[in-house]
Amino acid sequence: MVVKKGAKELEREVIKAGLCTSCGACVDICPYINLVKERAVIIEQCGIDEGKCYNFCPRTYVDIIALDQQVFGDNRKDAAIGSYISILAGRAKGDEIKNFAQDGGVVSALCAYAIDSGMVDGVVLAKSSDLIPSPIIARTKEEILKSAGTKYTVSPTLIGVKDGVKDGIEKIGMVATPCQVTAARKMQNMGEEAIKLTIGLFCMEAFFSGDFYEYLNKKINPSLIKKLNITGGKLIVQTDNSPVEIELSEIKQFARPTCGVCLDVTSEFADISIGSIGSEEGWNTIIIRNKIAEDLIKGAEEKGTIETKPLLEEKIELLKKIALKKKKSSIGSIEDKKLGYLKLSEEDRSQIMEAL
Ligand SMILES: Cc1cc2nc3c(=O)[nH]c(=O)nc-3n(C[C@H](O)[C@H](O)[C@H](O)COP(=O)(O)OP(=O)(O)OC[C@H]3O[C@@H](n4cnc5c(N)ncnc54)[C@H](O)[C@@H]3O)c2cc1C
Ligand code: SF4
Ligand code: SF4
Repeated sequence: MVVKKGAKELEREVIKAGLCTSCGACVDICPYINLVKERAVIIEQCGIDEGKCYNFCPRTYVDIIALDQQVFGDNRKDAAIGSYISILAGRAKGDEIKNFAQDGGVVSALCAYAIDSGMVDGVVLAKSSDLIPSPIIARTKEEILKSAGTKYTVSPTLIGVKDGVKDGIEKIGMVATPCQVTAARKMQNMGEEAIKLTIGLFCMEAFFSGDFYEYLNKKINPSLIKKLNITGGKLIVQTDNSPVEIELSEIKQFARPTCGVCLDVTSEFADISIGSIGSEEGWNTIIIRNKIAEDLIKGAEEKGTIETKPLLEEKIELLKKIALKKKKSSIGSIEDKKLGYLKLSEEDRSQIMEAL
């Protein structure tokens, strides 16, 4: 669905309302929009009243029913985590990827396989430089390994996708947070054909880089930080010395406000969604949503890149419970703030509100 609104409304409804996720979808499509200090900024109004900037944005009108139809050709079967075919646990085989990866390394392993098999020519990933992530287009295993690991601040992935299109890459893959996957689907709806694979991450929230790292660097010398991991209500900072544990409640203040109105924990519109909720340490939880994902997993397993096993039903239920809890809280905030950006079916809304 294309809405007849442009940069003026994007500025009022999203940017000034503090809802920008910094996905990068509106940036660089005209000379007047840029990202400054992790927010979109409109330098000058162009006057166009049906802008791609407005229509690509994951915080303008999102019709979940229409998106389900667009991506999966059907209504959703599950109010908590969206449409899916199966859910597995998995991990990369061998130590090479696992040594760099956040959890089981399935994301990095699938990116490598997707390039090797010709499914895509390159994958947009988040590369960290001095802890600040930015999008890169990885074409080799070495580049994939250099970008492995979770950055809990935003990398504007859609800028990387558009750079790839400008460079003439015909088949682009992307690893993205749920809001970024939504933006990619909205771009496809308006004719963007180069995106051939969306690997979505699970995501509960992301932080503003500046504030978050300033706080962290006061506690820990940044040159000692090896890895960050949020688990069990704590941020665990792996260092050259012993790990440092920080209560999540202490860093909540750096979370982006837009994450509080986000309904999507599991990248519901991705081809395949990957996280750790529900899996034991060193493994990933994998949601296979469509045929693209089925082929990817089958091919990577046959090639010996990854191994999988069924995920216990009780762990799947745990994942759904966590996703529903976040949805319920976000629906509350959306309704409190009278935001009109989201359309979901009445049936799904009541399932979410009654679930817990
Ligand atoms: C902001 C954020 C919050 C998350 N919160 C949760 C959560 O609450 N629960 C949960 O189960 N999982 C969460 N995840 C996903 C989880 O941390 C792992 O990324 C996932 O389990 C895949 O593990 P892996 O070992 O396969 O990843 P790897 O093989 O290490 O690959 C990770 C990939 O993610 C890309 N990436 C890293 N950071 C970003 C970013 N900010 N934006 C876009 N791409 C990025 C990297 O470039 C890399 O390709 C979150 C991820 C992010 C980015
Ligand atoms: S498209 Fe992305 S970067 Fe632009 S305003 Fe919307 S959320 Fe922010
Ligand atoms: S919680 Fe939602 S809005 Fe925030 S980064 Fe994750 S997907 Fe984007």
